[in-house]
Amino acid sequence: MKRKQFLTTLSLLPLTGTAMKLNELNKLTSSFSSTEQLPLLFLGHGSPMNAIEENEFTQGFRDISTKFEKPKAILCISAHWETRGTFLTAMEHPQTIHDFGGFPQALFDVQYPAPGSPELAQEVQQLITSTDAGLTDKWGLDHGAWSVIRHLYPHADIPVIEMSIDYTKGPEYHYELGKELAALRRKGVLIIGSGNLVHNLRMVDWKRMNDIGYGFDWAEEARAKMNDWILSGNHQALIQYEQQGSAFKLAIPSPDHYLPLLYVLGLKDTKEEISLFNDKTMAGSLSMTSVFIHKS
Ligand code: ZN
Repeated sequence: MKRKQFLTTLSLLPLTGTAMKLNELNKLTSSFSSTEQLPLLFLGHGSPMNAIEENEFTQGFRDISTKFEKPKAILCISAHWETRGTFLTAMEHPQTIHDFGGFPQALFDVQYPAPGSPELAQEVQQLITSTDAGLTDKWGLDHGAWSVIRHLYPHADIPVIEMSIDYTKGPEYHYELGKELAALRRKGVLIIGSGNLVHNLRMVDWKRMNDIGYGFDWAEEARAKMNDWILSGNHQALIQYEQQGSAFKLAIPSPDHYLPLLYVLGLKDTKEEISLFNDKTMAGSLSMTSVFIHKS
């Protein structure tokens, strides 16, 4: 079944009559299956201005999207959506949320009108067994999602849903929760974690905000250790980031921008390859390091 037909069929599903709808959904999602397992991405999103700028990072986002087939849908775990409990966006048309202040009007003018997918949100809700994930229409796409996804898929023609980060839970929980999403990868769903591995806004050197490659000693130390553990598969050390000394404490003053990485690492198959791109510090206290996990 072609994607267009699929979406048309879904739109004919009744809004009530859950049992029937789930049966229909199972039928549909099995035909939604893709034979190839899609890769995983962690994207360092950095400043919201990356949404409208042309630089080596936005080029990196574009390049990575050419390395695998176009997904049928995207599930994004964004640093900018923290909730008590885990939630999934489940609206047909997620709004573009401009969740920042003090930037040029041109950035507020950006819209990323990708459709949502209530059906996919329901499917993800069924997949998650460790907690009762909720569905909501009270969010949309925050800039952690749209500022990077628009570089990968500028036509906004792929349905996107977001999954929130439960701020009451520790790192191990997020790593394990990621694993529960594994089946989506064979159904044409691209899973993206969006954050920044070194992210200390309080210490940003604003005079050198655009200085790519400029990282404080502690930022470079944390980046090097993180990269080593990401590439060598030492996930335990990355989960236990709070025990990794002073450089890590400065790099991760709050967990929001770091935790999306753990979802992606939890989903990695042991045989898959892992590589880094956009792997640079900037403005002293940020890193743009992004992670690509794919079949060998
Ligand atoms: Zn951010």
